[in-house]
Amino acid sequence: MSGQTPTIVRTFWWHGIQKDQHKKPMHYRSWDAICKTKNEGGLGIRKLELVNKGMLINTAWRLVYDSNSIVAKIIKAKYFTYASLWTAPTYVPKSTFWALILSIRHHLEKHVTIQLIEGNTSIWNQPWCPMLKDMHNLLNLEQTNYQIPDKISDLWMTNTKEWVACKITTLFGQQTLDVLLQIPLIPGDGPDILCWKPASSVICSSKSAYRVLATEEAANNPPACIPVQSIQQRVKTFAWRLLRLALGTASRVHKKIPSIHEACSRCGNIEDEKHLFFECSFARAIWFASSIGLKVDALPSSERGLHIQIATILQQGPSQATTGMIFSIMWCLWKARNDLRFNNLNWSIDSVT
Ligand SMILES: [Zn+2]
Repeated sequence: MSGQTPTIVRTFWWHGIQKDQHKKPMHYRSWDAICKTKNEGGLGIRKLELVNKGMLINTAWRLVYDSNSIVAKIIKAKYFTYASLWTAPTYVPKSTFWALILSIRHHLEKHVTIQLIEGNTSIWNQPWCPMLKDMHNLLNLEQTNYQIPDKISDLWMTNTKEWVACKITTLFGQQTLDVLLQIPLIPGDGPDILCWKPASSVICSSKSAYRVLATEEAANNPPACIPVQSIQQRVKTFAWRLLRLALGTASRVHKKIPSIHEACSRCGNIEDEKHLFFECSFARAIWFASSIGLKVDALPSSERGLHIQIATILQQGPSQATTGMIFSIMWCLWKARNDLRFNNLNWSIDSVT
């Protein structure tokens, strides 16, 4: 996926389809904030970088989960003839595809485990225990009591699923034994099973991999929580921009581009959110004419911003006011403002309400 694609999506989101495609839109909020889930105060838009990575993780998963497929066999023959995907060397000449698979391998390693049933898994190249990468270093080649084991069941007592403590200690040391004793052994017959831990189905899908990546990323950037619910989609998007202070009001644009005037198109006062939605006489007329008949002047004056103002309307305004109605009225005010400013169309009070 081209590195330009996320830029195209971002531009479309902020600007829609524009006649002047070369004009760069202003982004009032970071794309990270927009891509957070709705519960985290974002809009739940998927990040293309992570979608792409999730698909790669799924591809790598299929190479190991379905290792008998023709594709898996070709890849193995080409890049890790005598190893596994888990232990494939990184120094061999790489195609773009293989370089990408290696770049996400650590994600797969982190979330994959093997359920030990029959113990037919190789000790040396499968992700069956946390020390997989160290097994060769831990192996005591000086000892002569035991043959070098191959499969995990070689470390079990014959016909049982019990670790042979003295064998493991002699071959790999006491610490290894301590770790192995923590690994659950599954009763029953049948080959060992490769499991993707994050999904209840234990199968890795692109979607599940995406969720894991998004959760990990979110854990590094803790969210601020303002969920917007029960409102029409287009009004929701508007409400999100409004509450996140991401609307292109004249005063905000003016701070970035001083040549753009910061005055309200109707009355000439500075156009910030407070003025546009509550103080401008046009806004006050709309609130009063609306179905909730709100007299903005009667509300206690608040210098503490939009969130408080909206909360005040809900608590102290007309009893029929709901969050949905409030945002819908504000959305109409914003559309009327844009029509006046950019299209020179002056909405009448009736047409807004
Ligand atoms: Zn005004």
